[in-house]
Order: sequence, then structure tokens, then C-alpha cells
Amino acid sequence: MIREMVCINCPRGCQIKVDTEKLTVEGNFCPRGKAYGIAEVTHPVRTLTSTAKVNHGVIARVSVKTDQPIPKEKMFDVMKEINRLQLEAPVALGQILIPHVLGLEANVIATKEVKKA
Ligand code: SF4
Repeated sequence: MIREMVCINCPRGCQIKVDTEKLTVEGNFCPRGKAYGIAEVTHPVRTLTSTAKVNHGVIARVSVKTDQPIPKEKMFDVMKEINRLQLEAPVALGQILIPHVLGLEANVIATKEVKKA
């Protein structure tokens, strides 16, 4: 089967075609597109971005993300973990909020600083 997709590794956005049986890729301008296409049909991953609740801060939520891509099928479960967070200000930029979330290699980290109110 051939799957068509857009490579999201850079703004060029190459339209690529991946043969899911032979694991060959066409339409990629560079090798990253080949790696992306094969990963998408074998083990798709994404970096998750979201926000988490902060108590006693100058703002009520802080932006967060996983510090590396996680398996797509784990996205909802990791979101649930992030939604459970009740952080106390201050929160530092880059602070690890959930180490090795759900036993994955990825940590959930803050992508913004939140000072105490
Ligand atoms: S294949 Fe290479 S050039 Fe094309 S979008 Fe992906 S990373 Fe960018």
C-alpha cells in the first residue's frame, strides 16, 4: 500500500509517498524525509505540547511539552497525566514537571517561566 503524507521536519513540507510493504519513500528532498516516512508507517511519534495548571502564580497556566517525541498512541494518556498536574509557582523555564512520563524516555517540561504572584 502507498501512503501519501507531508514531511513535517522543515518548512519545505515535501509531499512524500511511502510504500508500506517495501518501506521505500519517494518525493523527499532530503534523507530526513525518508526517515520520517518510514517512522510514520512503522512507529509514529510526536512531540506533545499543552498547558498545565499553576497555583499562586502571576498566570494560571504554564505551557509544557515533552522534551522528545513520544509514540502517537500514548498522546491521550500523557495528556491525562499533564491534566492532573497542580503546580506551585514559581515554575522555571525548562523545569522537569513529570520525569519519564508513563515510563517513557521523555520528560514533560515547562516551556515558560511563571513567577510567584
Ligand atoms: S524531506 Fe527534507 S526537505 Fe523535505 S520537508 Fe522533509 S526535511 Fe524538509
